[in-house]
Amino acid sequence: MLLITSASRAQPFSPEKAITPHCSKAKQPYAISSGVAILHFCVIIKIVKGGICVKAWQHFKTITRHRWQVRRGCFKVGLIWQGLSHDLSKYTPTEFFVGAKYYQGNRSPNSAERVEKGYSLSWMHHKGRNRHHWEYWTDLSLETMVYSPVPMPRKFLVEMVMDRIAACKIYQGNAYTDASALIYLQKGVDRIRMHPQTQQELEYILSMLRDNGEKETFQYIKKEVLKGKPFPWEQEASM
Ligand SMILES: [Zn+2]
Repeated sequence: MLLITSASRAQPFSPEKAITPHCSKAKQPYAISSGVAILHFCVIIKIVKGGICVKAWQHFKTITRHRWQVRRGCFKVGLIWQGLSHDLSKYTPTEFFVGAKYYQGNRSPNSAERVEKGYSLSWMHHKGRNRHHWEYWTDLSLETMVYSPVPMPRKFLVEMVMDRIAACKIYQGNAYTDASALIYLQKGVDRIRMHPQTQQELEYILSMLRDNGEKETFQYIKKEVLKGKPFPWEQEASM
Protein backbone atom coordinates (compact mmCIF):
# COMPACT_ATOMS: atom_id res chain seq x y z
CA MET A 1 0.00 0.00 0.00
CA LEU A 2 2.82 2.40 0.94
CA LEU A 3 4.83 1.49 -2.23
CA ILE A 4 1.91 2.12 -4.56
CA THR A 5 1.31 5.55 -3.00
CA SER A 6 5.00 6.53 -3.34
CA ALA A 7 5.17 5.37 -6.97
CA SER A 8 2.04 7.32 -7.95
CA ARG A 9 3.52 10.47 -6.36
CA ALA A 10 6.86 10.08 -8.21
CA GLN A 11 5.34 9.79 -11.72
CA PRO A 12 3.26 12.43 -13.57
CA PHE A 13 -0.35 11.64 -14.37
CA SER A 14 -0.94 9.74 -17.65
CA PRO A 15 -4.36 8.49 -18.82
CA GLU A 16 -2.80 5.19 -20.05
CA LYS A 17 -1.09 4.58 -16.75
CA ALA A 18 -4.25 5.58 -14.97
CA ILE A 19 -5.99 2.64 -16.65
CA THR A 20 -3.16 0.10 -16.50
CA PRO A 21 -2.58 0.17 -12.73
CA HIS A 22 -6.34 0.04 -12.24
CA CYS A 23 -6.47 -3.20 -14.31
CA SER A 24 -3.50 -4.77 -12.52
CA LYS A 25 -5.02 -3.79 -9.19
CA ALA A 26 -8.23 -5.51 -10.25
CA LYS A 27 -6.31 -8.65 -11.23
CA GLN A 28 -4.20 -8.72 -8.06
CA PRO A 29 -7.05 -9.08 -5.54
CA TYR A 30 -8.59 -11.63 -7.87
CA ALA A 31 -5.32 -13.60 -7.87
CA ILE A 32 -5.03 -13.22 -4.10
CA SER A 33 -8.63 -14.25 -3.50
CA SER A 34 -8.15 -17.24 -5.85
CA GLY A 35 -5.09 -18.22 -3.87
CA VAL A 36 -6.95 -17.86 -0.59
CA ALA A 37 -9.84 -19.89 -1.98
CA ILE A 38 -7.45 -22.66 -3.05
CA LEU A 39 -5.77 -22.50 0.35
CA HIS A 40 -9.17 -22.78 2.09
CA PHE A 41 -10.07 -25.66 -0.18
CA CYS A 42 -6.81 -27.45 0.68
CA VAL A 43 -7.37 -26.85 4.41
CA ILE A 44 -10.95 -28.17 4.15
CA ILE A 45 -9.76 -31.23 2.23
CA LYS A 46 -7.05 -31.80 4.86
CA ILE A 47 -9.64 -31.51 7.65
CA VAL A 48 -12.06 -33.78 5.82
CA LYS A 49 -9.33 -36.34 5.02
CA GLY A 50 -7.35 -36.39 8.24
CA GLY A 51 -9.18 -34.33 10.84
CA ILE A 52 -12.36 -34.03 12.78
CA CYS A 53 -14.68 -35.29 10.00
CA VAL A 54 -12.81 -38.58 9.67
CA LYS A 55 -12.61 -38.90 13.45
CA ALA A 56 -16.34 -38.16 13.74
CA TRP A 57 -17.12 -40.82 11.16
CA GLN A 58 -14.79 -43.34 12.87
CA HIS A 59 -16.35 -42.53 16.23
CA PHE A 60 -19.86 -42.91 14.80
CA LYS A 61 -18.91 -46.32 13.39
CA THR A 62 -17.32 -47.41 16.70
CA ILE A 63 -20.32 -46.51 18.86
CA THR A 64 -22.76 -47.98 16.35
CA ARG A 65 -20.78 -51.23 16.18
CA HIS A 66 -20.62 -51.26 19.98
CA ARG A 67 -24.39 -50.76 20.25
CA TRP A 68 -24.88 -53.57 17.75
CA GLN A 69 -22.74 -55.92 19.86
CA VAL A 70 -24.57 -55.02 23.08
CA ARG A 71 -27.95 -55.40 21.34
CA ARG A 72 -26.96 -58.89 20.18
CA GLY A 73 -26.09 -59.92 23.77
CA CYS A 74 -29.17 -58.28 25.32
CA PHE A 75 -31.52 -59.89 22.78
CA LYS A 76 -30.04 -63.33 23.55
CA VAL A 77 -31.03 -63.01 27.20
CA GLY A 78 -34.38 -61.29 26.52
CA LEU A 79 -33.54 -57.65 27.35
CA ILE A 80 -35.17 -56.17 24.25
CA TRP A 81 -35.71 -52.53 25.28
CA GLN A 82 -32.26 -52.24 26.85
CA GLY A 83 -30.73 -53.78 23.74
CA LEU A 84 -32.44 -51.14 21.59
CA SER A 85 -31.83 -48.13 23.82
CA HIS A 86 -28.29 -48.93 25.03
CA ASP A 87 -25.91 -45.91 24.92
CA LEU A 88 -28.24 -43.75 22.80
CA SER A 89 -26.94 -40.68 24.67
CA LYS A 90 -23.61 -41.17 22.86
CA TYR A 91 -25.24 -39.54 19.82
CA THR A 92 -26.09 -36.35 21.74
CA PRO A 93 -23.79 -33.36 21.01
CA THR A 94 -22.28 -33.31 24.53
CA GLU A 95 -21.00 -36.85 24.16
CA PHE A 96 -20.61 -37.18 20.41
CA PHE A 97 -18.36 -34.19 19.73
CA VAL A 98 -16.02 -35.09 22.59
CA GLY A 99 -15.92 -38.65 21.27
CA ALA A 100 -15.07 -37.38 17.78
CA LYS A 101 -12.43 -34.91 18.99
CA TYR A 102 -10.58 -37.43 21.18
CA TYR A 103 -11.18 -40.50 19.01
CA GLN A 104 -8.26 -42.95 19.21
CA GLY A 105 -9.82 -46.26 18.21
CA ASN A 106 -8.24 -48.43 20.88
CA ARG A 107 -9.40 -46.73 24.08
CA SER A 108 -12.27 -44.62 25.33
CA PRO A 109 -12.17 -40.97 24.15
CA ASN A 110 -13.30 -40.03 27.68
CA SER A 111 -9.88 -41.07 29.03
CA ALA A 112 -8.13 -38.71 26.61
CA GLU A 113 -10.47 -35.85 27.55
CA ARG A 114 -9.79 -36.59 31.24
CA VAL A 115 -6.02 -36.49 30.70
CA GLU A 116 -6.28 -33.12 28.93
CA LYS A 117 -8.85 -31.36 31.14
CA GLY A 118 -8.65 -33.25 34.41
CA TYR A 119 -12.27 -34.36 34.00
CA SER A 120 -14.51 -35.72 31.28
CA LEU A 121 -17.75 -33.83 30.67
CA SER A 122 -18.77 -36.49 28.19
CA TRP A 123 -18.44 -39.23 30.79
CA MET A 124 -20.30 -37.27 33.46
CA HIS A 125 -23.14 -36.68 30.98
CA HIS A 126 -23.13 -40.39 30.09
CA LYS A 127 -23.00 -41.94 33.55
CA GLY A 128 -25.78 -39.68 34.80
CA ARG A 129 -28.21 -40.97 32.16
CA ASN A 130 -27.29 -44.62 31.62
CA ARG A 131 -28.32 -47.04 34.30
CA HIS A 132 -26.05 -49.84 33.05
CA HIS A 133 -23.10 -48.05 34.70
CA TRP A 134 -22.48 -48.74 38.38
CA GLU A 135 -21.46 -45.07 38.72
CA TYR A 136 -25.11 -44.15 38.11
CA TRP A 137 -26.02 -46.16 41.20
CA THR A 138 -24.55 -43.89 43.85
CA ASP A 139 -26.69 -42.00 46.30
CA LEU A 140 -26.46 -40.08 49.54
CA SER A 141 -26.27 -42.54 52.40
CA LEU A 142 -28.60 -41.48 55.21
CA GLU A 143 -26.29 -43.18 57.71
CA THR A 144 -22.97 -41.61 56.72
CA MET A 145 -24.26 -38.55 54.73
CA VAL A 146 -21.68 -39.44 52.07
CA TYR A 147 -22.41 -40.38 48.46
CA SER A 148 -21.96 -44.15 48.32
CA PRO A 149 -22.60 -46.98 45.84
CA VAL A 150 -25.86 -48.92 46.10
CA PRO A 151 -26.50 -52.41 44.61
CA MET A 152 -27.48 -52.45 40.92
CA PRO A 153 -30.81 -54.01 39.92
CA ARG A 154 -30.15 -57.22 38.01
CA LYS A 155 -31.37 -56.12 34.59
CA PHE A 156 -28.86 -53.24 34.62
CA LEU A 157 -26.14 -55.53 35.99
CA VAL A 158 -26.72 -57.79 32.97
CA GLU A 159 -26.64 -54.82 30.57
CA MET A 160 -23.31 -53.86 32.17
CA VAL A 161 -22.01 -57.40 31.50
CA MET A 162 -23.02 -57.08 27.82
CA ASP A 163 -21.47 -53.60 27.68
CA ARG A 164 -18.14 -54.86 29.01
CA ILE A 165 -18.05 -57.84 26.66
CA ALA A 166 -18.85 -55.62 23.67
CA ALA A 167 -16.27 -52.97 24.67
CA CYS A 168 -13.54 -55.64 24.95
CA LYS A 169 -14.51 -57.09 21.56
CA ILE A 170 -14.38 -53.67 19.87
CA TYR A 171 -11.14 -52.47 21.47
CA GLN A 172 -9.24 -55.80 21.43
CA GLY A 173 -10.34 -57.12 18.02
CA ASN A 174 -8.76 -60.49 17.27
CA ALA A 175 -7.04 -60.54 20.68
CA TYR A 176 -10.44 -60.88 22.42
CA THR A 177 -11.12 -64.05 24.40
CA ASP A 178 -13.86 -65.06 26.85
CA ALA A 179 -11.42 -64.07 29.63
CA SER A 180 -11.00 -60.48 28.38
CA ALA A 181 -13.85 -58.86 30.33
CA LEU A 182 -12.79 -60.47 33.62
CA ILE A 183 -9.14 -59.48 33.11
CA TYR A 184 -10.22 -55.90 32.34
CA LEU A 185 -12.34 -55.82 35.49
CA GLN A 186 -9.53 -57.18 37.67
CA LYS A 187 -7.02 -54.68 36.29
CA GLY A 188 -9.27 -51.69 36.82
CA VAL A 189 -9.93 -49.81 40.02
CA ASP A 190 -13.68 -49.48 39.43
CA ARG A 191 -14.41 -52.91 40.92
CA ILE A 192 -13.24 -51.75 44.35
CA ARG A 193 -15.48 -48.67 44.13
CA MET A 194 -18.74 -50.34 43.10
CA HIS A 195 -21.09 -51.79 45.71
CA PRO A 196 -19.62 -55.11 47.07
CA GLN A 197 -22.78 -56.99 46.08
CA THR A 198 -22.59 -55.70 42.48
CA GLN A 199 -18.88 -56.46 42.36
CA GLN A 200 -19.39 -60.04 43.56
CA GLU A 201 -22.22 -60.67 41.07
CA LEU A 202 -20.26 -59.14 38.17
CA GLU A 203 -17.11 -61.15 38.95
CA TYR A 204 -19.14 -64.34 39.25
CA ILE A 205 -20.78 -63.88 35.84
CA LEU A 206 -17.53 -62.86 34.11
CA SER A 207 -15.68 -65.82 35.70
CA MET A 208 -18.38 -68.11 34.33
CA LEU A 209 -17.88 -66.50 30.90
CA ARG A 210 -14.11 -67.14 31.07
CA ASP A 211 -14.55 -70.77 32.18
CA ASN A 212 -17.67 -71.89 30.30
CA GLY A 213 -18.07 -69.53 27.35
CA GLU A 214 -20.84 -67.24 26.12
CA LYS A 215 -23.52 -69.80 25.36
CA GLU A 216 -23.65 -71.30 28.84
CA THR A 217 -23.22 -67.94 30.58
CA PHE A 218 -26.04 -66.30 28.59
CA GLN A 219 -28.31 -69.23 29.43
CA TYR A 220 -27.47 -68.81 33.10
CA ILE A 221 -28.20 -65.08 32.89
CA LYS A 222 -31.52 -65.66 31.15
CA LYS A 223 -32.78 -68.50 33.32
CA GLU A 224 -31.30 -67.64 36.71
CA VAL A 225 -30.07 -64.05 37.04
CA LEU A 226 -32.93 -62.29 35.26
CA LYS A 227 -35.51 -64.57 36.91
CA GLY A 228 -34.33 -63.29 40.30
CA LYS A 229 -32.98 -66.65 41.46
CA PRO A 230 -30.30 -66.48 44.18
CA PHE A 231 -26.60 -66.60 43.37
CA PRO A 232 -24.78 -69.66 44.88
CA TRP A 233 -23.53 -67.77 47.95
CA GLU A 234 -27.06 -66.43 48.60
CA GLN A 235 -28.43 -69.99 48.48
CA GLU A 236 -25.79 -71.11 50.99
CA ALA A 237 -26.59 -68.20 53.29
CA SER A 238 -30.31 -69.00 53.33
CA MET A 239 -29.75 -72.72 54.16
ZN1 LIG B 1 -22.69 -46.80 28.42
